[in-house]
Amino acid sequence: MSDTSPENRLRLFNSLNRQLEKFVPIHAGEARVYTCGPTVYNYQHIGNMRAYVFADTLGRVLSYKGYKLTHVVNITDVGHLTSDADAGDDKMEKAAAREGKSAWDIARYYQQVFERDLDRLNVRKPAHPRATDYVESMIEWGEQIEDKHCYRLESGLYFDVTTVPDYGRLARAATDAEDGEREGRIDEVEGKRNAADFAIWRTTPPGETRQMEWDSPWGKGAPGWHLECSVMSAELLGHPFDIHTGGIDHREIHHPNEIAQNQAHNCSADSAARIWMHNNFLIDRSKSELGKMSKSSGEFLTLQTLVDRGYHPLAFRMMCLQAHYRSELEFSWEGLDAALTRLKRMIQRLEKLAQDERWFHPSKAWLPTSMAESKIEVFHNAISDDLNTSKALVILEDMISLKKLDINLGRYLVEQMDVVLGLDLFNLSRADLRIRPKSATITEAEIEDALARRKAARAEKDFATSDAIRDELAAKGVEVMDGDPLGWEWKLGD
Ligand code: AMP
Ligand code: ZN
Repeated sequence: MSDTSPENRLRLFNSLNRQLEKFVPIHAGEARVYTCGPTVYNYQHIGNMRAYVFADTLGRVLSYKGYKLTHVVNITDVGHLTSDADAGDDKMEKAAAREGKSAWDIARYYQQVFERDLDRLNVRKPAHPRATDYVESMIEWGEQIEDKHCYRLESGLYFDVTTVPDYGRLARAATDAEDGEREGRIDEVEGKRNAADFAIWRTTPPGETRQMEWDSPWGKGAPGWHLECSVMSAELLGHPFDIHTGGIDHREIHHPNEIAQNQAHNCSADSAARIWMHNNFLIDRSKSELGKMSKSSGEFLTLQTLVDRGYHPLAFRMMCLQAHYRSELEFSWEGLDAALTRLKRMIQRLEKLAQDERWFHPSKAWLPTSMAESKIEVFHNAISDDLNTSKALVILEDMISLKKLDINLGRYLVEQMDVVLGLDLFNLSRADLRIRPKSATITEAEIEDALARRKAARAEKDFATSDAIRDELAAKGVEVMDGDPLGWEWKLGD
């Protein structure tokens, strides 16, 4: 499909001007995407994972539309402080002290856990470069922008935000209508010229040693957090590139600072990414007053928490896809149950279709019929409309439940849709989706055995035994589900 073809209707919401824009690639036939990755000092919570499911969906849509995708999700293993305001402790060093490990070990461990969670959510594997591998380039950037845009303080090298045009445009564009109180949000370092100025380099205070520090023209120290994304996007994707993504919090400080650095370095008013996209928060009202799930608010939910409660990780992916990425999404266990049930229904129907031999042998002489074309067309329109995944899911469900669709064609279409949505529909079975809490005290074999005995008792009209077996199971957290429409015979609770 050519980039200008009428087929290419992809429209994306650009936070820079708060408008839907047609996607026009900078390099014909290619899409280059940068996603701010995790700071690997702790587990990622499921709010963070929403950001990566969104970025993955974007990547899948671009690939589906035929673009050669280069997707970078950086790993922040240095430099991020406990506040975005260049004050507070270094997150990595603090975690190292907490866990009695080296900062390097902390970074490697949490990166591994992050990557495993991505796998479990069926997120395709983008490139994961680490910030610590780019410190030399970051120092070069600092040297190049120092004279015109930076000043030195005892604590490091700072960027003067008044030296670039229209600093903070991204945040203002996004928040003007909501509040006018951005000024004065960061002013915690003594001697800064402007409240919004930020560190390019953080010099280690005299007499202190950091585990992660490098020599630089501004003394031994570590790079400021914002610098890595400018440097890595320039090096790995080239400036300008197509799309930059992150969570909505990055629209306020991190991305405006990245843009300022890019403008300074590239001697241009351009932000360096054509489209800036931000996913809204996953919130959990039961956890904090504000509801935004965050690591600093103490307790938070990880994907592993969901797995331990017995949920398949893809139920969480389904939950994310049900909402538009720009809407807040409220997490609740009931919501997760509903997403799981929806996924189960799809799998149940596909398993039924799979009983037909032809399902596995799509005809080679397959030709699109007008019905298939129209189904794919509506699906295409939905995802092209700023990734309307909730609508796309409904179309997929429609497709799966069509009675009259040719079976080979059906499979082909479902496959096409699943490539975009990433629910892994052809590898999941209903058995995979059973709720299996880690705390369960009974095995599935034991449950099946008890149910077989109960069935035999019922066949003999021995209802006393049948009820006793049911109670026995209930005592172990197993609910027997006679006549369940989804065909589940039992369910394990906590
Ligand atoms: P961090 O590891 O804190 O740098 O965050 C990783 C990504 O998750 C960033 O893109 C954040 O903007 C995003 N993020 C943080 N909290 C949430 C949340 N509650 N819901 C959705 N995205 C979030
Ligand atoms: Zn970033």
